Amino acid sequence: MKMTESYDVIIVGTGAGGGTLARTLAPSGKRILLLERGDFLTRESENWDPGPVFVDGRYISPDTWYDGAGTPFQPQVHYFVGGATKLYGAALYRLRPQDFAELRHADGISPAWPIGYDEFEPWYTKAEWLYQVHGEHGTDPTEGSWSRQYPWPPVSHEPRVQEISDALERGGYHPFPAPCGILLNEADRTASECIRCATCDGYPCLVHAKADADIIAVRPLLGMPTVTLLTRAEVVRLETDPAGRTVTGVVVDRGGDGKEEVYHGDIVVLAAGAANTAKILLRSASETCPAGLANGSDQVGRNYMYHNSKAAVALGKEPNDTVFQKTLAINDFYFAGDDREWPLGNIQMLGKSNAMAMKGEEPHLTKLAPRWSLEEVARHAVDFWLTTEDLPKPDNRVTVDRDGSVHLAYTDTNDSEAAGLYAEFRKLLNHIGMSEHHVLHKNFYMSMNVPIAGVAHQAGTCRFGADPATSVLDVNCKAHEVDNLYVTDTSFFPSIGAVNPALTAIANAIRVGEHIADRLGASVSASAQGWAPAQRQAPAQAPSAAERN
Ligand SMILES: Cc1cc2nc3c(=O)[nH]c(=O)nc-3n(C[C@H](O)[C@H](O)[C@H](O)COP(=O)(O)OP(=O)(O)OC[C@H]3O[C@@H](n4cnc5c(N)ncnc54)[C@H](O)[C@@H]3O)c2cc1C
Repeated sequence: MKMTESYDVIIVGTGAGGGTLARTLAPSGKRILLLERGDFLTRESENWDPGPVFVDGRYISPDTWYDGAGTPFQPQVHYFVGGATKLYGAALYRLRPQDFAELRHADGISPAWPIGYDEFEPWYTKAEWLYQVHGEHGTDPTEGSWSRQYPWPPVSHEPRVQEISDALERGGYHPFPAPCGILLNEADRTASECIRCATCDGYPCLVHAKADADIIAVRPLLGMPTVTLLTRAEVVRLETDPAGRTVTGVVVDRGGDGKEEVYHGDIVVLAAGAANTAKILLRSASETCPAGLANGSDQVGRNYMYHNSKAAVALGKEPNDTVFQKTLAINDFYFAGDDREWPLGNIQMLGKSNAMAMKGEEPHLTKLAPRWSLEEVARHAVDFWLTTEDLPKPDNRVTVDRDGSVHLAYTDTNDSEAAGLYAEFRKLLNHIGMSEHHVLHKNFYMSMNVPIAGVAHQAGTCRFGADPATSVLDVNCKAHEVDNLYVTDTSFFPSIGAVNPALTAIANAIRVGEHIADRLGASVSASAQGWAPAQRQAPAQAPSAAERN
């Protein structure tokens, strides 16, 4: 085992939580080491090709995990610089203020966060500015207060989506422009240059026009002498002092040949994703911490959440030639009220269907369908994504077996709320000229064939809280039991709300980064203005072969 040099901060993982943390801390001048098990995602024509992306699963890790019954499955995880954000849909929503408080649901209580929305709000603003979000605060009746407007106006609706928005308003609904983290030219706010891709959802962006953690957070740091990035560096466990109070070594497998290297950092931050962060802590068990590091409370790995979601395709009589469809959402059913006993969740538009993606998502249903008929279906399809909150349950948990493999035991929560949201969705279709009989169920990026494999929105396995008996992390996301260990991926969520999680992970990483800088006696406090919108960062044309990478 080789002992290498030491750093002020070691960050494990370069996704929404880890990459953003590095971006926040880098101006401090502290020596930062980023350890990433994946590599840079290659720019290649396959990035935008639904065949390799959806049918072949080209960008999904070959990992094998096991469900609660011990059945193996391939989780939809993405190990690249930028993590899951390389493939994400860049729909960057804030949680509602009520999500930070205790909320009653059909299947139980969604617990309160140790800090409230108003306290968290400044970091949401910084996150929206850093990730160049297009949107319009003040148009969603359920949103909380905001201290600064989005840096960019909303992405314009294309004609069919505008018709849907107008029809929903006439029907008494409150549609609003979906917040999108994409890098567009101010003069041309439609997503015309995304014409070959049609959606960020599930695809890497060939022209680097998606505000992902690689492009926004990690690449800008690469020339800095104080920042080191090691790729293909999988962290396998942490070593501690005999008391188990201080991490003394980060053990890395580089290349999977069993040869380990150890790195030392004054502060160590795990941001490997909710399941993998729990895995690292559980694999760091020692005589002092037999149940795993930071796990005296037996909470590490528990309370796994990933949303109770459904994708649905509505078929209209008229063709839908929309290219960039993810510009509209409604939160009219987010909370209980009127004749609703329970909160139901969020409805947003999804990336536009195409025949090949449908084949990849539903190989059994579509096996016998000739390609032309799928193409006709896809042409008339209007795609929606329905999200209901999933509750933290102690038995929904990640564990690790003797070989180090992840086991994920999971049972759905709030199915009756999800059914309620779907019923409201079907009613809503009548207002937009699509009969409720013309709805296809579609498993999209969240589930595919094996529902548990849809781990895109994984969260909750190391929740933060004031009480060390019921949480793993304190309010600054430092492990209660370890003095120099933090976690900044979605593990820290005590509850997940019913909107996409990435913006909250990003905002929290900035918050924790500022705290760590303070602790190290450095200042990085960036105002939202400090992250003023960059000018267009993406080339207008797809890169030539010579330009790639
Ligand atoms: C297809 C898809 C679409 C999505 N769409 C949206 C959306 O529109 N809006 C939204 O808000 N969210 C979306 N999400 C979810 C969002 O991407 C995640 O919530 C977010 O990226 C989580 O951030 P994280 O830091 O917890 O994990 P990640 O971003 O996944 O980062 C974890 C990083 O750790 C690395 N890693 C893992 N294990 C190790 C190890 N042992 N050693 C070293 N490195 C390790 C990984 O390679 C990765 O880089 C989507 C996700 C997917 C997959």
